[in-house]
Amino acid sequence: MFRTVAQFDRIGEENAFAVLARATALARAGRDIINLGIGQPDFRTPDHIVEAAVKALRDGEHGYTPATGILPLREAVAADVTKRTGAPVSPDNVVIVPGGKVTMFAAILMFGEPGADILYPDPGFPIYRSMIEFTGARPVPVPIREENSFAFSAEETLALITPATRLIILNSPANPTGGVTPKAEIDKLVAGLADRPDIAILSDEIYGQMTYDGLGHTSLLSYPEIRDRVILLDGWSKTYAMTGWRMGYAVWPEALVDKVRKLAVNCWSCVNAPAQWAGLAALTGPQDAVSAMVAEFDRRRRVVVEEANKLPGVSCATPKGAFYAFPNIGMTGWKAKPLASALLEEAGVATIGGPDFGVHGEGYIRLSYANSTENILKAMGRIGDFLTKNA
Ligand code: PLP
Repeated sequence: MFRTVAQFDRIGEENAFAVLARATALARAGRDIINLGIGQPDFRTPDHIVEAAVKALRDGEHGYTPATGILPLREAVAADVTKRTGAPVSPDNVVIVPGGKVTMFAAILMFGEPGADILYPDPGFPIYRSMIEFTGARPVPVPIREENSFAFSAEETLALITPATRLIILNSPANPTGGVTPKAEIDKLVAGLADRPDIAILSDEIYGQMTYDGLGHTSLLSYPEIRDRVILLDGWSKTYAMTGWRMGYAVWPEALVDKVRKLAVNCWSCVNAPAQWAGLAALTGPQDAVSAMVAEFDRRRRVVVEEANKLPGVSCATPKGAFYAFPNIGMTGWKAKPLASALLEEAGVATIGGPDFGVHGEGYIRLSYANSTENILKAMGRIGDFLTKNA
């Protein structure tokens, strides 16, 4: 397909970055801003991971690496994914990328073209739709509903499939809702795709290790019958508090992996070498920092939900994964985007309006609880005061 400059006008934005910039500018101007907007852990990357990067720099790991990543790292990813999903993963199918987003970009580019349909969650991570539109494919939103605990409905997803469907994007645990799709629902979805072997699945499992209440996580790779068409998106950003390192990975099916390798050669050559050694230390070193972080998110989750349910006109379902709550603000009299903007400008609390995640996000705002309990309590107090004064 021939791409033109004009086609780049179809690329959308991720408003969380604009909100972060505005929150930072307000804070620089002396305002006291609490950020519940940005989706990144507020923890530092664990020390042993940082030390591995420093050591790699000192040891002279300054050059290009293989385009898909250093072998020990791909081996470690393959072993980790096998341990967590039961799928026999070869290091040859692992591609290290500069952030999970790059896997999204590659997969959507591979299947998107005019005349193709791509299904994606709505509300969902905004880059899915942006990239689908970039390719000229038809974006087909799969509604993610509060009444369904913000899980995918297999029935509703399957009903949206047409002869033109090329790719389905799944995300569980989910941004922005914190929804987790139960195994029984994924079973149904996988069964429903049996007669359409031509449809690929991009399974965004970047929050896979962040589930609560003993719920656990079901990976799409754990289904042998569809492994030859599942692209598993994961990475270090959320699990190891490494958003700024730009480290992600994907497991690609045999038929596609060499195409991505060529894209890597053409586009980013390789991820920076010290970060890859840090990623290896993350996977092979102690995991207690991960469990401590998840336990802390769990405590904050309870605080956010409890406080959100005290707000006038607000009801908040308990999220089951990731580190987001998605309270329903339908009874406040506010539309979501003006409310998010007023909360930042007037109450000094950064949040993201639900419509930034799709049309089905109207009536909700996203609260990231990647902030201290003290700040969360303060922020929720400010939101309460604001809503009481501006009902
Ligand atoms: N997928 C989802 C659902 C996300 O929320 C994010 C980041 O917010 C990403 C992927 C991208 O992660 P990365 O920072 O590794 O590119």
